[in-house]
Amino acid sequence: MTPICLVGIGKIAVDQHVPAINGSEDWELAATVSRAGTVDGVQSFTDFDQMLAERTDIAVISLCLPPVPRYDYAAKAIAAGRHVMLEKPPGATLAEVDALVAMAKAAGVTLYTTWHSRMAKGVAPAKAWLADKQVTSAHINWKEDVRRWHPNQEWVFAPGGMGVFDPGSNALSIITEILPMPIHLRSADLHFPANRDTPIAAQLQWTKNVSGDFDWRQEGPQSWDITVETTAGTLNLHDGGDRLIIDGQEIAAGNNREYPSLYDRMAELVKTGASDVDVSPMIHVADALTLGKRIMVDPFHF
Ligand code: NAP
Repeated sequence: MTPICLVGIGKIAVDQHVPAINGSEDWELAATVSRAGTVDGVQSFTDFDQMLAERTDIAVISLCLPPVPRYDYAAKAIAAGRHVMLEKPPGATLAEVDALVAMAKAAGVTLYTTWHSRMAKGVAPAKAWLADKQVTSAHINWKEDVRRWHPNQEWVFAPGGMGVFDPGSNALSIITEILPMPIHLRSADLHFPANRDTPIAAQLQWTKNVSGDFDWRQEGPQSWDITVETTAGTLNLHDGGDRLIIDGQEIAAGNNREYPSLYDRMAELVKTGASDVDVSPMIHVADALTLGKRIMVDPFHF
């Protein structure tokens, strides 16, 4: 098993990364770096430089920090000759991800920009079905409760936190994966709480009749749905991509293996000396923030 270090022991590390690593035959969770979080039975550091200096046996670092602080950790890890796995979205800016790509290439290490929703069960079969279809329209309906999924995480509303595009980038990672043609943004309405720096809701309109409705204020049932209309029938992805229905017939369902699949992919990349970098979901976020009309809404408090 390959020793791996997990950095940023917060919600997603505890909910998904630790169980995925512990359930894998490829990886051994050998160390953590976090100012406050630890994992039982695993050596914990509060200082990243110290971990890099002391644990030279650890060649792979998985960064579960929010996007803004993540770049500095990734740059240090690559400079220290370590392979790096980035939580989504891969950076706070597109240019910093480009910089990491160049550094990883020069250092000869693997860089993996993970998009966990692309590993949802219905995504690969949806992509395969759509490959030879003519798409007439598509719609994203991505509505969840920020208090439930990001409890008291002030960073999501701070500059670089991306607001509703933090979960919205999951939908964008699916749509950019499955559509058989490129799209680009035409317009965006962005709803900013009066006391916040990032949007809490957004409506986006792309070319080719593709649209999206994102909202972080949805209580009760949560909606993570994508519908694609084609000249040959209708494709529906539900539950964040886990359930695929084509013309009313269920094609794939259940059994969420998104994070174990990310770690399987990282093992393969490290073994073959490859990198896997895709910023296309982030391009749509950046475009929305560039093109978007700002609409002020009620202040938001956790
Ligand atoms: P989080 O719990 O708020 O943050 C993760 C950890 O990062 C924190 O526990 C903190 O650990 C460390 N951290 C935060 N700010 C930092 C800073 N400025 N400098 C250094 N370390 C800092 O966030 P999360 O929900 O796990 O999200 C982290 C990433 O995972 C995000 O990119 C998010 O999009 C992605 N993600 C989240 C979810 C979800 O449901 N929450 C789902 C999928 C993906 P210490 O304070 O102990 O150092």
